[in-house]
Amino acid sequence: MFDIVIKNGILIDPEKLTRSKGNLGILDGKIATVTKQEIYGTEEFDADGRIVCPGFIDIHGHVDLNSYCAELSLHQGITTTVGGNCGLSPLDIDSFFAVQEKNGFIINQAEMFGHSISLREAVGITNPLKPATPEQLSRMEYLVEKAFEAGACGLSLGLAYAPGSSNDEIYKLSKLAARYGRIVSVDTRMRTSIDMYSLVEAVDIARQTGARVQISHLVYQYGTGLINEAIAVINKARADGMDIRFDSGMYTQWATHIGAVLFDEDSMELNGWKLDDILVITGKYNGQRLNMDIYRELRTNDPHAAVIVFTGVEDEIYTALNHPYAMPSTDTGAYAPGEGHPQIAGSFPRYFRQMVGERYELTIMEAVRKATLLPAETLGFHTKGRLREGMDADLVVFDIKSIMDKADFGLPDAKPEGIDYVFVNGKLALAKGQLANIAAGTAVRCTEPVYDYQI
Ligand SMILES: [Zn+2]
Repeated sequence: MFDIVIKNGILIDPEKLTRSKGNLGILDGKIATVTKQEIYGTEEFDADGRIVCPGFIDIHGHVDLNSYCAELSLHQGITTTVGGNCGLSPLDIDSFFAVQEKNGFIINQAEMFGHSISLREAVGITNPLKPATPEQLSRMEYLVEKAFEAGACGLSLGLAYAPGSSNDEIYKLSKLAARYGRIVSVDTRMRTSIDMYSLVEAVDIARQTGARVQISHLVYQYGTGLINEAIAVINKARADGMDIRFDSGMYTQWATHIGAVLFDEDSMELNGWKLDDILVITGKYNGQRLNMDIYRELRTNDPHAAVIVFTGVEDEIYTALNHPYAMPSTDTGAYAPGEGHPQIAGSFPRYFRQMVGERYELTIMEAVRKATLLPAETLGFHTKGRLREGMDADLVVFDIKSIMDKADFGLPDAKPEGIDYVFVNGKLALAKGQLANIAAGTAVRCTEPVYDYQI
């Protein structure tokens, strides 16, 4: 007798690359059996021919303990989110995890340790255009090690937010990541919207330090007509033995805060962004495009106001996510209801709808693998992203024919359809679009090296 049985599913195993009809039994939070035999549970769910697969792992997000953001992730089928990206994270990683371990959380959270905003500020760097001093750098090294000891799953660089970061700073900290066998995620230092050197620089981090490098939201960086060139740079580096991987959302339009240095007037000009290309998505100007008055007011009085830059070539999304080392991601962040970017509620359903259901870019098997096993392997989550006995029972039951994102610009948090059930650590967390448990998730501390340090 199992705690929970999911019957009559199409079971997708991204390790064996098999798809079969069967039943799955859960006991004590783990997958206890995957079988064709009739099995019985205290609670039983009929998948009725729908897909049953490991829960999605969002390798690039900013949930960072925000409940509403986590709830919207759960609605997308995400059971584990990776926060602390783009150089922005909590400083005390140990207590960040401890809070979840004590209280539970809506979904599981792993956490990157953020260099470019959090760590630089913590050691007293106030100017994003300035490099760290040797004293500041050695303090940063100490804090990075402490974060890795506490279980941070990698170092995140947000070079666009701290373009003054020196190579010394980046290489020393990335080398620490390599020594701990943790990834380095890089939000590349785009100086213009056609700046391919920024990607070469990110690839060089792997070359100089031996770290596994995860390029963040590739399409937000290079989906402006450059994606083939970007993929060529990545493929060449991989052929040379560097472990470069990347993620991408399902949109070309990206969001950040208006106070970021990339919205300085000279940077706006270099990038060719017009005020009218930028939509405000929080606060009193929510839904309005920028004009000079709003731009100046927000930059001065409300630099944390979020905006979306309308840019990019839609087809480049599909090209990017076709790559065997591409993973879907949300770049989600904390917003009040009615505010934000549709990526917060739409990304994964949109990925399955467009990539599998409508465009036949990926098979369902490959789409599931990229959303589950590939991020699990990349990050070293040995018990996640896999559909076999002994693995964490993080599971999604969905209908590939009806899965549908409803979020859009102006309607950013509309919930998706077509996801029947989501289980987190063996507990039913979402049933037919309704929250069933808000504390089934826990901390995902990384304690082992994910890859061998080679330099
Ligand atoms: Zn991000």
